[in-house]
Amino acid sequence: MATLELNDLTKIYDDAQGREVAVNSLDIDIDDGEFLVLVGPSGCGKSTTLRMLAGLETVTDGTITIGDREVQHLAPSERSIAMVFQSYALYTKMNTRENMAYGLKHSTDLSKAERNRKVDEIAELLDITELLDDKPEEMSGGQKQRVALGRAIVRDPDVFLLDEPLSNLDAKLRARMRTELQQLQTDLGVTAVYVTHDQTEAMTMADRIAVMNDGELQQVAPPEVAYDHPENEFVATFLGSPSMNTFETTVHEDGSELAFHHGGTTLATVPPNTVSLADGDTVTLGLRPEDVQLFDNPAEGTFTATVTVSEYQGNDNFIHLSVANQDVMARVPSDTYPDPGEKLGVTVSPRDVFLFDSDSGIARKTRGLSDERKHRPSISN
Ligand code: ADP
Repeated sequence: MATLELNDLTKIYDDAQGREVAVNSLDIDIDDGEFLVLVGPSGCGKSTTLRMLAGLETVTDGTITIGDREVQHLAPSERSIAMVFQSYALYTKMNTRENMAYGLKHSTDLSKAERNRKVDEIAELLDITELLDDKPEEMSGGQKQRVALGRAIVRDPDVFLLDEPLSNLDAKLRARMRTELQQLQTDLGVTAVYVTHDQTEAMTMADRIAVMNDGELQQVAPPEVAYDHPENEFVATFLGSPSMNTFETTVHEDGSELAFHHGGTTLATVPPNTVSLADGDTVTLGLRPEDVQLFDNPAEGTFTATVTVSEYQGNDNFIHLSVANQDVMARVPSDTYPDPGEKLGVTVSPRDVFLFDSDSGIARKTRGLSDERKHRPSISN
């Protein structure tokens, strides 16, 4: 167990196809025993980052420090890391015991009996004792992933690296393994970096998430902080399903409030002293679907919207609305299922208003507005 520091970590691919900055000057300090999830869209540099940590990819610039050792120049076997891949990467000709013992045989001077004892211990922890004599071809995807985990854990690494380890499993097994993995990581107290493009995995498993886009780190924070206080529009719209609604708005100030206008409609208002914006400024307004409050009576809302599609989801519904020719998504309880063409009133509470600089996308600082942002049902009759 150890801390893991990424300092100015950079990877540039420069080959016949051209120059590609895959990871740009990444700075992240990961605590001893922390579960950090690297998340972001495909191609944002997650796997390259993990592969640099593992020693499978050279570093163009920057340092990687595990505990008090700089490791970026060391071979993978000298870094005290263990990696679990999406593809399991088990040796097909070896049974489970041999697969699990293989790394121990090559990286420690434990005797065969000691190696077997460790394998037995971890196999019991992972509930795979009955698979010890089986070869990978005899096992299901879930069992293979468990064996791959066992092979990583048995080596007692300082840092655990996991690259989309659950994405080959079906939805039900994935949900179960998610919980088990989290529990295991807590029990073992090991430092872990977990890569996924799946934001549900990221939000549910992480102590902190590191959101990346285009090789750049966007924000590192506990999931609920990144969700409620995103540092920029990218993080705000990447986290959350359905995605946050965004609008280009013009600010109107009349002394008693700041109003955000879009296509002739006032979408929301906030007290005038909560954000430094003036009459005529333009700003991007963000609204999470679950914060869009709907009223059957259009007159009860701040503005009126027309239902275009109601998507039945089971435990809640997604309602597509048209507001000043723009699509707006509302997420509402399952008993709300308005017909297309229906006109509804819409209200957005000041505390649910997100504001971003229209050019840079950086979140505008607000005073007191979002401090108590919380999630709650979003329709009133
Ligand atoms: P992610 O894991 O987030 O999907 P990657 O780390 O795989 O993203 O890739 C980041 C960027 O680096 C992408 O633009 C990808 O095309 C590029 N890249 C990855 N590996 C190589 C390589 N071996 N040669 C050139 N470019 C690469």
